[in-house]
Amino acid sequence: MSNDVKNPPAWLGVMGGGQLGRMFAHAAQSMGYNVAVLEPSADCPAGQAANRLINAGYSDAAGLDALAAQCVAVTTEFENVPADSLSRLAQSVFVAPNAHGVSVAQDRIAEKSFFVASAAKSGVLPAPHKVIAAQADIDAISDDLLPGILKTVRMGYDGKGQVRVKSRDEVRAAFDGMGQVTCLLEKMLPLAYEVSVLTARAADGASVVYPIAENVHRDGILFTTTVPGPNITADCARKAQAAAQTIVAELGYVGVLCIEFFVLADGSLVVNEMAPRPHNSGHYTIDACVTSQFAQQVRAMAGLPLGDVRQHSPAVMLNILGDIWYEGEGADETRVREPAWDKVLALPGANLHLYGKEEPRRARKMGHLTFVAPTLAEAQQHLNAACAILGIEP
Ligand code: ATP
Ligand code: MG
Repeated sequence: MSNDVKNPPAWLGVMGGGQLGRMFAHAAQSMGYNVAVLEPSADCPAGQAANRLINAGYSDAAGLDALAAQCVAVTTEFENVPADSLSRLAQSVFVAPNAHGVSVAQDRIAEKSFFVASAAKSGVLPAPHKVIAAQADIDAISDDLLPGILKTVRMGYDGKGQVRVKSRDEVRAAFDGMGQVTCLLEKMLPLAYEVSVLTARAADGASVVYPIAENVHRDGILFTTTVPGPNITADCARKAQAAAQTIVAELGYVGVLCIEFFVLADGSLVVNEMAPRPHNSGHYTIDACVTSQFAQQVRAMAGLPLGDVRQHSPAVMLNILGDIWYEGEGADETRVREPAWDKVLALPGANLHLYGKEEPRRARKMGHLTFVAPTLAEAQQHLNAACAILGIEP
């Protein structure tokens, strides 16, 4: 299906009912579109916001056909959407990103091979790695890959499906522990810091790149995103942005895509992975950029011109996990409080985003806070104050 201009109040469809779908719905609706979400669970963050929730499995033919019949374009809010479902939708409705882009991003082997193949043009390589599909592959590991990280090839996110390993014996144990599903062993690199590059590409090949975001992870989950990144040099930023634009073009991608890079101590860039959708590290764009990543996704899928990516305020984003609703550990764990949002919102430049999730659970993303300010130092100072209020170690 071609991507001619689709004006509001047409219906835009989303595969998946999580927070990214919710924020997409908000952006689309503010431009006058209607939004349909396909998601199997009845109460979900995106379903609460959508004009229509199609309660169906991600591979359910009747559900997919209902989505295609209602909508003029369909996107996805999670990368593990079955690629076959996107192909089925694409028979009757414009789909962005398409099954090809999503299938590369959802399989670490395909993703790494793609990065290696495009390295001559992008100028960046992924970490040294090896596919571990059977015990015999472990015997053949070169010393150079250890210590490393064993990652499942599919379905990994927020550090799930990853084990850090120092020896072949530890690789064997970790591989068994993951039920011998196909994995990638990646060399553990000495990271100086981590950045992500958010891009969007239109069907006519035009593309835009947002400012580089610097990310801090805690326990494998994104903790904060700071933009502009305090560590990144202008040279490194230029290289990462150029690499990202090459990568989306090579992939023939349409829509918003986020690429994570490692920066090593010597300043060199290593490409880690990509997400074929708006990304947690791009949430700051809602409050700090002319066009948010969600509004940008609407534009790309509706055949509209891409929006201005200019950042008008320095910003720091903090993820809010379910942990802060609790005190104590294990059997002593008690749900003690509703976080003091009134105190947090009294801080200058505070923007609260909660995702409508009923049940706070540890490590569950419940929302995020973005602080904007005239200077990054002020935004960081107010974020630290929010951490103190919420009982988060800054
Ligand atoms: P997410 O979906 O949340 O981005 P993920 O579970 O897909 O994460 P990765 O992004 O591959 O997994 O890894 C999570 C984090 O682990 C990285 O952000 C980085 O901090 C660390 N990490 C991953 N690979 C390496 C590596 N090769 N060397 C050093 N650190 C690494
Ligand atoms: Mg990652």
